[in-house]
Amino acid sequence: MHVDHLGIHTSVEEVFPPERLAEALADLDPNVSVVEGDYDGVDAVVTFDHDPDFLDHVDWIHTVQAGYDKFPLDELRERDIVLTNSTGIHGASVGEFAVGQMLSLARRLHEHRDKQHDHEWEWPDWDDPFTLFNEQVTVVGLGTLGQGVARRADGIGMRVVGVRRTPTRTPHTREVYTPDRLREAIEDARFVVVTTPLTEATRGLLGADEFDAMREDAYLVNVARGPVVDQDALVDALESGEITGAALDVFEEEPLPEDSPLWDMDDVLVSPHAAAADRDYYRDVADIVRQNVLHLDADEELVNRVV
Ligand code: NAD
Repeated sequence: MHVDHLGIHTSVEEVFPPERLAEALADLDPNVSVVEGDYDGVDAVVTFDHDPDFLDHVDWIHTVQAGYDKFPLDELRERDIVLTNSTGIHGASVGEFAVGQMLSLARRLHEHRDKQHDHEWEWPDWDDPFTLFNEQVTVVGLGTLGQGVARRADGIGMRVVGVRRTPTRTPHTREVYTPDRLREAIEDARFVVVTTPLTEATRGLLGADEFDAMREDAYLVNVARGPVVDQDALVDALESGEITGAALDVFEEEPLPEDSPLWDMDDVLVSPHAAAADRDYYRDVADIVRQNVLHLDADEELVNRVV
């Protein structure tokens, strides 16, 4: 494969201005330009969305996200189109975000901000605040995101337990369970953080049985993909007090529909799939794309290759 024209699809504006990425890659040999709808002569595209028209034109698609569940993997394979993703760059951003949400829930920061809006000078209930120190967090999935969370949670003294398919510990975890022992892994956790990709094996991974197994004072943090959690079962568990709260960055339907009960729950933090938002995001994506253009020139294996 040779890339003469690299297109930056306008959909990357979901994350950063496409022109920023085009500028950051302007010194490469291929011609780099922002594209939408007309892919004649475009050999490779960097994108947020999938456009079925890519399939008739490009040899290589790079997604600016880590998740690639929106791409037709079988069709890409059949047509010999390469797909690469942006995993490896979100450990710090999503790690800090998840730990930030846990700190907010434990130290009641969200409650103070809500009260500030109403100019209310009022302590939280005396027995609501707690410290994360010595609390157990179970991180489900120990790739870039999971290890990013584990490292930061360990740094503030949490007891980090992990769930991964290979039963060996990764740095900053005290214990690791395989997915068939998920319930054991989460039953003592104060926080369960979900960081797996969405696959057929992980769809609905956390559902009614898992919420039933969790402690009543536990919180769920989902920074992975909405459908990894059974959202109806989560709402039931929150309403019935089976678990106490949640920090949710991703949902079965995005944007979260206006009539979702999750918007108005006191101990639920809703964010708009923004855990990875970061002003340097386009630079990190540029680094991966640049490496792969150089690998192609040298006839070497691409990094972050999915298909
Ligand atoms: P990654 O490939 O580095 O790590 C994923 C890990 O999950 C791997 O270690 C894999 O072995 C593990 N895994 C897969 N199936 C599992 C299972 N059944 N049980 C336990 N572990 C399992 O990917 P990443 O960069 O860490 O991203 C993970 C996912 O998080 C992405 O696929 C994406 O959907 C999501 N994500 C969300 C945001 C956001 O803004 N909220 C940002 C980045 C990534």
